[in-house]
Amino acid sequence: MAQREWVEQDFYKELGVSSDASQDDIKKAYRKLARELHPDANPDNAKAEERFKRVSEAHAVLSDPAKRKEYDETRRVFGSSGRFGAGSGFAGYGGAADAGGNQGFSFSDIFEGASGAAGGFGDLFEGLFNRGGAAGPAPTPSRPRRGSDLESEITLGFRDATLGVTTPITLTSPSPCTTCHGSGAKPGTSPRVCPQCNGSGLISRNQGAFSFSEPCPDCRGTGSIVDHPCPDCTGTGVAVRTRTVNVKIPPGVADGQRIRLAGQGQAGMRGAPSGDLFVTVHVGADDVFTRTGDDLLVTLPVSFSELALGATVTVPTLEQPVGVKIPAGTPDGRTLRVRGRGVPKRAGGAGDLLVKVTVAVPAKLDDRAREALRSYADAERESGFDPRGGWAGA
Ligand SMILES: [Zn+2]
Ligand SMILES: [Zn+2]
Repeated sequence: MAQREWVEQDFYKELGVSSDASQDDIKKAYRKLARELHPDANPDNAKAEERFKRVSEAHAVLSDPAKRKEYDETRRVFGSSGRFGAGSGFAGYGGAADAGGNQGFSFSDIFEGASGAAGGFGDLFEGLFNRGGAAGPAPTPSRPRRGSDLESEITLGFRDATLGVTTPITLTSPSPCTTCHGSGAKPGTSPRVCPQCNGSGLISRNQGAFSFSEPCPDCRGTGSIVDHPCPDCTGTGVAVRTRTVNVKIPPGVADGQRIRLAGQGQAGMRGAPSGDLFVTVHVGADDVFTRTGDDLLVTLPVSFSELALGATVTVPTLEQPVGVKIPAGTPDGRTLRVRGRGVPKRAGGAGDLLVKVTVAVPAKLDDRAREALRSYADAERESGFDPRGGWAGA
């Protein structure tokens, strides 16, 4: 029970004892009240039931010496008037207990209370770190702005994803301007060092006792001034264009995996490094194979005679088919393991190919096959083979 509730309830009064009552007095008082108020003795009496609950609650706290001590202490500290707060400065405490059902201060309350100060902080930090505002991330002073990371998606066939593939991805994004090679200056001219910040991209501003550095407004933090802007990119050094990136997908990539291609993202301002390109890979299903981790699964149809007599069968893999030996007497549904023919691993090597054999029963038999099979059935019976082991009551 929350301490706040403790303060609001007088357990001693509920039990009709004084606050210095002995444990024995408390026990006796409770037993008497419990008998009187018990729901069995007061059917359909909501008032008695409510009283019974409160008396039980009071007893639960006061009969436990440790809890009773805590209860007494709480009431001593916060007063037994029955109310927290009431202009005493504990309103925040009570409010937090009400809202979350738990105790303790919420520091956000404190800051909300001082909203004027919070606003002041916000303005200050915005000025320092977020000059770019909604236009993008704040420029990194004294260093040209790195290009943004880009996200793309690609859907690959099962085999391409498993074996790895190099595939083109078309991106429409800002790239270094081809006319000025990203410098932002008209061909034949070049940017000059910003005289305001001497190329650092930062200026200092004094405010009272403090000195703040902020991005230079003349060069917008880039450290250089373009006098003759490139006509194709208006001096930004960046042009939106559609480009095709050849993405090398490593072998063994799984559905939903995200691949990072360093430096293939958006071009930076005026020759700054490009961002990265993240490609989320979707992998299509395959008609023949499924995958669990690094293992490939294939279900291989076989005939009864191949299982009974044993056989070497040809099994497809992602590359060259392999011959797999089926031992004589292999049960239907057994999985055979072909090592190293599964999904290539990043660290080298590959998982396994798991071949599950399943009997294919011919829908039609020609005369010769039917005759042979009948003859076989006779021989099987005479040999004493019982597929059901007798449990079917045969
Ligand atoms: Zn340009
Ligand atoms: Zn400058």
